[in-house]
Amino acid sequence: MFYGTWFRYDNKDSGYRDRRKCIVDQFNTRQVVAIDEEEPPLTRGDVLSSTSSNDLQTSWNRVVPRSHNSASMNKTKQFRKAFFPDATNQEWNDWHWQLSHRITTLEQITRYIDLTLEERQALELSVTQFPFSVTPYYLSLINLQDQNSALRKTVIPSIRESFTCEGESDDPLHEENTSPVPGIVHRYPDRVLFLTTSFCSVYCRYCTRSRLVGGHSEALEKHWKEAIEYIRNTPVIRDVVISGGDPLTLSDERIEYLLTEIFSIPHIEMVRIGTKVPVVLPQRITPQLLKILKRFKPLYLSVHCTHPDEITEESAKAFNNLADAGVVMGSQSVLLKGVNDSVETLTELYHQLLKVRVKPYYLFQCDPISGSAHFRTTVAKGKELIHGLRGFTSGYAIPQYVIDTPGGGGKVPILPEYEVGHDAGNLYLRNYEGRVFAYPDRAEEGTEN
Ligand SMILES: *Cc1c(COP(=O)(O)O)cnc(C)c1O
Repeated sequence: MFYGTWFRYDNKDSGYRDRRKCIVDQFNTRQVVAIDEEEPPLTRGDVLSSTSSNDLQTSWNRVVPRSHNSASMNKTKQFRKAFFPDATNQEWNDWHWQLSHRITTLEQITRYIDLTLEERQALELSVTQFPFSVTPYYLSLINLQDQNSALRKTVIPSIRESFTCEGESDDPLHEENTSPVPGIVHRYPDRVLFLTTSFCSVYCRYCTRSRLVGGHSEALEKHWKEAIEYIRNTPVIRDVVISGGDPLTLSDERIEYLLTEIFSIPHIEMVRIGTKVPVVLPQRITPQLLKILKRFKPLYLSVHCTHPDEITEESAKAFNNLADAGVVMGSQSVLLKGVNDSVETLTELYHQLLKVRVKPYYLFQCDPISGSAHFRTTVAKGKELIHGLRGFTSGYAIPQYVIDTPGGGGKVPILPEYEVGHDAGNLYLRNYEGRVFAYPDRAEEGTEN
């Protein structure tokens, strides 16, 4: 049953005139909605008190973000004091230092965290081939005492990764099948994905390319020339997504080489880099790298972001420097159970990103990669979250929620049920408050659409 008012929009008049009883075909269910003829227009107060099941009052309260920055600053400071008291600022802020101090073994991680049984089993048995690595900086963002800390779940292995469930596979998106030459995935007509490296500074436990990352496949770098040739010889390609692994872990020289080669191809109109570096290794965004990136336009960065805890003073500086260098940034997040599957968390993440000039681009339903069942929410949950964003916050803060279809069908957008019915004259639309409005959706007389 709908709670809300039905309006019939009258074309001749620019107002809501004819309120009446409507019969609406809400997909399979025919529902009758009674309208009070004299009902006054709803005010915000009415909406709050008139909503029963979907508690809007809570939604209003939920969208007020708390500030993370000062807390996370202290977290990193405390972490450094406890575990790296002798590291100088220069060392800590040097990305090579961060990489050479990565935590990659059971022995190393137990210095910082009391592992849970599931975490310990995963590392002891090394049942997953998929490697473990976290930078000291990123580890410093995790509340080490909290077994349920959001970021902890995303980077510390769990034995649950070794359980493969029905519908899961190592390459659910069939990237290998749509690869004309090694390192290139050409699925859409006008753009390609270019897998440049299998290395990441931090490995996400839900990675869709765990088959490939960490160096347990043949090195991708040796195929660069062939991949670039493919792009050069395929004039329908106008957009190249440089991904991996994480391309921003490559050296300045290698990045400069890739961008120079790709931008020199006449039919390439834009280049994007897919990376998590600004949040896991913000020290990598050096003045030298910025100088290189600044020379290539239009350059887009798709930044993999997971949780508001990632937006710290360090990452904010990296984002702002990238924006100042003319890099256009969008975020890509994976919806993860117990990590970011609440309206509150996503709202805060997206607000924080907009403040540092990153536009939320995609929210991905978690791919059915082998061993990912503990991370996956239902699609209904994803729709509920998008519904909790739209209208309650800036449109700029709302990403497109998509499923990358298993089998290689590409990304398909998913929306909450906003279209609630259609009759001869009108399309009925439910707004963010749950109220329904009519749009006169019909063809001009004598035309078909
Ligand atoms: C996601 C993806 C792209 C880019 O898609 P957009 O919707 O344009 O961001 C290109 N190629 C492949 C194989 C992809 O998975």
